[in-house]
Amino acid sequence: MTTLVAVGAQWGDEGKGKLVDWLAPQAQIVVRFHGGNNAGHTLVVEGEQTVLHVVPAGVLNPGTVNLIGPGVVVDPEILLSEISTLEERGVLRDPSRVRLSGRAHVILDWHLALDKAREEAARKRAIGTTGRGIGPAYEDKVTRRGIRVADLLDPDRLRGAIDRLADQKNFELVEYYKWQPVDRDELYRKAVEWGKRLGPYVDHVTRILDGALREGKNILFEGAQGTFLDIDHGTYPYVTSSNCVAGAVCAGAGIGPTRIDRVLGITKAYTTRVGGGPFPTEETGETGEKLRDVGAEFGATTGRPRRCGWLDAVMLREGAAVNGFSALAINKLDVLSGFDEIQIATAYRLDGKLTDDFPMTLSEIERAEPVYEVLPGWSENIRECRRFEDLPQNARDYVERVESLVNVPVEILSVGPGRDETIARDQPFRPV
Ligand code: GDP
Repeated sequence: MTTLVAVGAQWGDEGKGKLVDWLAPQAQIVVRFHGGNNAGHTLVVEGEQTVLHVVPAGVLNPGTVNLIGPGVVVDPEILLSEISTLEERGVLRDPSRVRLSGRAHVILDWHLALDKAREEAARKRAIGTTGRGIGPAYEDKVTRRGIRVADLLDPDRLRGAIDRLADQKNFELVEYYKWQPVDRDELYRKAVEWGKRLGPYVDHVTRILDGALREGKNILFEGAQGTFLDIDHGTYPYVTSSNCVAGAVCAGAGIGPTRIDRVLGITKAYTTRVGGGPFPTEETGETGEKLRDVGAEFGATTGRPRRCGWLDAVMLREGAAVNGFSALAINKLDVLSGFDEIQIATAYRLDGKLTDDFPMTLSEIERAEPVYEVLPGWSENIRECRRFEDLPQNARDYVERVESLVNVPVEILSVGPGRDETIARDQPFRPV
């Protein structure tokens, strides 16, 4: 039995979806523990593309049970439409394969409207949210006004909860942002309907998890976003509204820290970021454009072009510190084929001084200038490589240099979007 947490080591979009899908056949349970449908995982299996936002990426493997934990915020419309698509494609035949915590909070029409209204009002210094209502839903959770999935199954309770929220939310929308109010009766009718349709999927997820642990199953915890988008450890306020680090598994899924075996940090072979916020190794010229074009760096959720730059070992070291990485997975190594030279940031120069550490404050991160090491590139297409030894020497040297700079072994390499385009140097689900 092994419990493995897979989290993004950068600003999200590291290709977690592909890796989770690759790892999932080795797990009996896959768990989402935070975030909402702002995560967009693109999976390519046998040439067919699936984009998932809420359902864990293990769903494409028939033997896997997929849990959505209490730490997740759920947009019922999105979850139901994902479930319908998966049912139509014959991937999901039995509701028992997707279990939704009754304790997860629900994203409501107010949350969507407020997200958009605020982002529009703050356009100049916008955080760059995906406008999916995630942040406002977490706000209501923390202020103890939120509506949970279990409430959807209890129409009387639901009516009271919606009424309690309505005055306050509509006041903010109408009076402050000059937006249309949300019709509370219509929302109530819709929410009752959501409850009926989601009912077969609602369960006591933490109890299922406890049972699976006792039975010695392999369990995979699927992180969304990434370490530097974490509400506490990321580049605040340009972050998401939940904790994304490995430790968030404990609260978000309901599992004690003594039961976590391994943590896999997922990084790209370079760096990307969507939306605003500091990005020390950003390349705004030709290099950035080439990385964006070759890596197809456009958001799965919003289609926004991603900002691109070289790999940043300072960030990865910080990621290793806050997550306790047992190993790294490097994705999209194939995208670096064809660069004469490849750079890695090994340190920052901050106010004239060299530092190996990721700075504490936003303004320091904004002022940090990367110090680069230049490595020779390779021209070969590496998408057919299936063993580390098959890679060109310069690609192997690059990977080994990352290992030594971050001081964490690189266990998995991804050389293409397809499930089989993967090099495993070790077995991620191994007892510790
Ligand atoms: P996630 O949110 O971390 O799962 O990342 P996304 O799914 O938003 O972005 C990853 C994108 O890169 C998807 O389009 C994947 O199909 C693609 N991808 C994943 N791994 C690789 C890889 O090794 N090489 C290439 N070229 N594309 C990859």
